[in-house]
Amino acid sequence: MTAVAPGTTTAGGQDRVRTRNLSALLRHVHVHGPTTRAELTALTGLNRSTIGALTTELTNAELVCEEPSAARAGAGRPSLLVTPRGNQNYVLAFDIGVDYLFAARVGLGGQVLDRRDLYRPRGEYPLSDVLGHVRRFASELIAGARPGSWCAGGGVAIPALVRHADGLARDAPNLVWQDAPLQAEIADVLAGLGLRAPVHIRNDADLGALAEHLRGAGRGSDFVVYLTGEVGVGAGIINNGRPLNGFGGYSGEIGHTVVNPTGRLCSCGLRGCWETEVGEKAILDAAGRQGARTTVAEVVAAARAGDGRSVAAVRHIGGWLAIGIGNLVSILNPEVVIMGGMFREIFPLVRDQVLSALGTGGLQPPRQDVRFVLPGLGADSTLLGAAELAFAPLLDDPLGVRGPVRGGM
Ligand SMILES: [Zn+2]
Repeated sequence: MTAVAPGTTTAGGQDRVRTRNLSALLRHVHVHGPTTRAELTALTGLNRSTIGALTTELTNAELVCEEPSAARAGAGRPSLLVTPRGNQNYVLAFDIGVDYLFAARVGLGGQVLDRRDLYRPRGEYPLSDVLGHVRRFASELIAGARPGSWCAGGGVAIPALVRHADGLARDAPNLVWQDAPLQAEIADVLAGLGLRAPVHIRNDADLGALAEHLRGAGRGSDFVVYLTGEVGVGAGIINNGRPLNGFGGYSGEIGHTVVNPTGRLCSCGLRGCWETEVGEKAILDAAGRQGARTTVAEVVAAARAGDGRSVAAVRHIGGWLAIGIGNLVSILNPEVVIMGGMFREIFPLVRDQVLSALGTGGLQPPRQDVRFVLPGLGADSTLLGAAELAFAPLLDDPLGVRGPVRGGM
């Protein structure tokens, strides 16, 4: 935890130190759960009275509650346990996919308090249609919140190139949207429901990486790639503990790197992009099937049962998977690669094939360092990443964003 000892002389400097310390404490209990004042004192290196003053401020803002813990701090009174008030402070998270929409009310501390899941056939749904579902789900989730509770904001994940400066979905090839002002539109939807909360939107793989790094299979590593495959393929990258966004926010589009120039035409207009060889359509074509998301699971199940054509299809994907992953590992030198989306099902079948291919060619040091794992958060990495995106402003400046709720108790 990064805390700063008070001692700066200027008033502005003291405010910044206080904000940074409040941020460090709230972020810690948000990610790690209930923590005693004694533990926070040890973790931050701040003294007990400073920690007490800071946690009292967070308590007065109704962001945490403090109660005696069972553990005793030395010979004295039991140290107070600082717990995030998840039912009192929440965000709305949305994961918008090509054929699904997940929505959730997530409390401070990261717990999903309520959720709605919609699955539907593939189709070119217009923005207005998606916004209609967002409105309905948001209305239901808000109605279920505890009276007097507070919404810190909304977070949205989408399989698109998202311009970070203003949340414009520049290009969503598999949703067939271009320059969709999704962030502004969803903020309008929430305002129409009486919720004047900031909304932020990011690429789905970037948010999967964020959540897995914080709470899932990437915990404990600062060099993480979250790879997701559905209709499209993309990567979210954590480098040295921070998201690697690129200049405009468009990094990680590994699905649109060309691996087979004589291959199939991609939705982006290029020929032979990696996602044309390892995406959902590639595996269904190789298996001689057509259909939607459930069909990939059917191919995997048939391959497990020994069906020849399905085994060959999975093996075909494994070969192309090794090529793209080899490129990714050579460029980024990750410690952990998390196989999300459809790769959750396929990767266990091709793991040995991919590792063997990586081990028999290419520069070996980065290939020997990397570990491949499945997501710790299952199918919810992206949804929970959207929640973390929405919590970020509050965690950066707890009292500035929340404001004092009741003074000086
Ligand atoms: Zn492409």
